Amino acid sequence: MKAEIMGIGTELLMGELTDTNSSWIASRLPALGIELQWVSIIGDDLPRLTEAFKNGMKRSDIIFTTGGLGPTQDDLTREAIAAAFDETSVIQQEVVDKLERYFAARGTPMPQHNLKQANLIPSAKWVVNNNGTAPGWWAERDGKIIICMPGPPGENHSMWEEQVEPELAKLIEDEVTITRNIKTMGMSEGAVDEVISEFFGIENPYLGIYSKADGIHLRVIARAKDSQSAQAMIAPVEQAIHERLGEYVWGYDDETPEQSAGKSLTEKGLTLAVMEMCTGGSLTNAITNVSNSSSYLKGGIVAFDGKALSASGVPTADLKQHGVVSQQTANVMAETVRRNLNADLGLAVTGVPGPGEFEGKPLGLAYIAVTNGEKTREMEMRLPPRQVTIKRRVPNQALIELRRLIEEIS
Ligand code: AMP
Ligand code: MG
Repeated sequence: MKAEIMGIGTELLMGELTDTNSSWIASRLPALGIELQWVSIIGDDLPRLTEAFKNGMKRSDIIFTTGGLGPTQDDLTREAIAAAFDETSVIQQEVVDKLERYFAARGTPMPQHNLKQANLIPSAKWVVNNNGTAPGWWAERDGKIIICMPGPPGENHSMWEEQVEPELAKLIEDEVTITRNIKTMGMSEGAVDEVISEFFGIENPYLGIYSKADGIHLRVIARAKDSQSAQAMIAPVEQAIHERLGEYVWGYDDETPEQSAGKSLTEKGLTLAVMEMCTGGSLTNAITNVSNSSSYLKGGIVAFDGKALSASGVPTADLKQHGVVSQQTANVMAETVRRNLNADLGLAVTGVPGPGEFEGKPLGLAYIAVTNGEKTREMEMRLPPRQVTIKRRVPNQALIELRRLIEEIS
């Protein structure tokens, strides 16, 4: 089933409001086996909206709309569908009664403008809104479906989950969609693309490639009559990814670097100590996002210059010889914190804290070290010179290196 989404509202076109509803709805469609082909933003303008519905009906089986169902004169979604279908809306008394009860419960009379929310055309039925005054519409004509949901995200998402999704699932119950997300770190998007190029451009199973703060993600989506068949379609793609990129794979599906590292630490019964220099605590913060992290994390030290590193036990001679921002210092930091906090593993990051240069080195340069006292993994990173990027990406890489060291030593 081919679908499109229309975000309706002039404020979206003005850049005053971001269309989060469309991406939220889009993220729900693959699991239903609905193929999204278009997303558009249309202002509150009757001729343009009417034209959009006429065009949409030609190219899509199903149109989802968000917004334009309010009581005000600029909310015109219903009017545009009536015009596109060439039908006349009629006020439905049972919805008027419901709206009046809604306002009575809040101690005010219903404004006359809300009456338009009780309008329905013969080709449409209501979609219940349990969280606001605007009911949705489910309109059908010539085998095409238009589903209208309100703009406020709370109303939009609850209407989707409570009413729309269950109805859609009934329509397409003869098909299942299974998604497998494989996460890699260490190869560029272009290089990954090249290694598995023959799997791209196929509709089913579909392979997508996404660059994220925690590496390159590969998403395989398969549609079939049952989950076993869908699984069987994913398997050869997943196997090829493993054969060609295995050493770069660090996680699956919703797994985060901190969960992946935490799982390895727990499985091997290892403890961890952290010292971080350019990440403002975001590495330790990420580690403690995992609920049982206190069982393996001994502590994290956040230092911001050479003096703080010395006070935390890093020998001044090493700092003088190599500089704060160097691989050697990262290695010494990891070993120092490992010993001082009596942990099995020490993880350290050092880099230019920003906003400008440090020791004549550029913002974006960072070093990672992880050690068990005998074996050490090292990594130099050269990132774009933005502090927020560094605080997000250095911890991700550090946690993946941590997991890799655990794999190496066990
Ligand atoms: P409307 O249903 O068009 O009257 O929209 C009501 C309110 O819902 C707007 O003022 C926004 O706060 C919110 N809203 C509308 N459309 C969207 C959208 N596409 N994404 C996120 N919020 C929206
Ligand atoms: Mg609006």
